[in-house]
Amino acid sequence: DLLINQIAAGEVIERPASALKELMENSLDAGATDIAVQLEGGGVKLLRVRDNGKGIAKEELPLALMRHATSKIASLDDLQRVDSMGFRGEALASMAAVAQLALSSRTAQDTHGWKVEAIDGRISEPVPSSQPQGTTVELRELYFNTPARRKFLKSDSTEFAHCEETFKRIALSRPDAAFSLQHNGKAVWQLPAQPIAARIAAILGDEFGHAAVTVERQVANLSLQGLAALPAYSRGTRDAQYFFVNGRFVRDKVASHALRQAYQDILHHQRHPAFVLFLDMPPEQVDVNVHPAKSEVRFRESQGIHQFIFHTLHEALSIPAS
Ligand code: ADP
Ligand code: MG
Repeated sequence: DLLINQIAAGEVIERPASALKELMENSLDAGATDIAVQLEGGGVKLLRVRDNGKGIAKEELPLALMRHATSKIASLDDLQRVDSMGFRGEALASMAAVAQLALSSRTAQDTHGWKVEAIDGRISEPVPSSQPQGTTVELRELYFNTPARRKFLKSDSTEFAHCEETFKRIALSRPDAAFSLQHNGKAVWQLPAQPIAARIAAILGDEFGHAAVTVERQVANLSLQGLAALPAYSRGTRDAQYFFVNGRFVRDKVASHALRQAYQDILHHQRHPAFVLFLDMPPEQVDVNVHPAKSEVRFRESQGIHQFIFHTLHEALSIPAS
């Protein structure tokens, strides 16, 4: 079982940033409005996410660390199919298999918190812990027991950069929540709950806002909103491309192509346009389970989506910034 968990873990948890993504999403799923991330050594040595969400009851704690559908991966055949099936309910179990994990939580009904640990893949009985309402998940020494995988990790600063990028994507998607990020004891980001424009300015800098046009268009049940930078924004690198579908950061070929084409049409030279854009659409028109760990989506009507994005951007960029 531990072996299966370790194999599956490699698929879900590629590096500290993948664990961070899963943990922050769990916190948001639990209704957290304040999420604090602490990292050491690029997140490999320590990765801790503390939230003020609804918490997990004592009897649920060990279950949270168990694979929900072990039978799903009963054979090698299944293992190969895992990619298309998705990994729901397997993130914490995977982390418990490849790191020393401590999960501490307290619900609104509890008079104190409870903590379970996964040490060498074994889950301990809950013990009392001093924990405010919410949940803290702590991972230490990611891949300590799978040296082959650990070798694939890059330098601490590279792993930290990936974690920071994950943090920024999630922080951009939820300006209504407060977030903080510490690395090696130093505060890197401290973001209060704020309006979206302020959150974008905090993360991309005021100069991005000054060099950007507002994008806002709604046609039937499709909506595209956000900011798209004109060439004056010099930090226009690949890093500054944030595209969200129904609130989730995604990388999508259809959307990227439409955006690139609009930029090329209007601003001929801009090779790495910068933007923060939110596409909202009925959930049944987009498949987000292509690969939950990889931020990909599939649009049912990809041609229509392409046209909508292209025309919206084209129109927004055609208006000279004031
Ligand atoms: P999934 O999120 O797909 O259900 P996970 O392995 O990520 O699978 O989490 C397992 C379960 O543990 C969740 O369904 C949830 O009930 C609980 N859980 C995990 N993280 C938190 C959290 N931060 N706050 C409250 N509950 C949590
Ligand atoms: Mg999860």
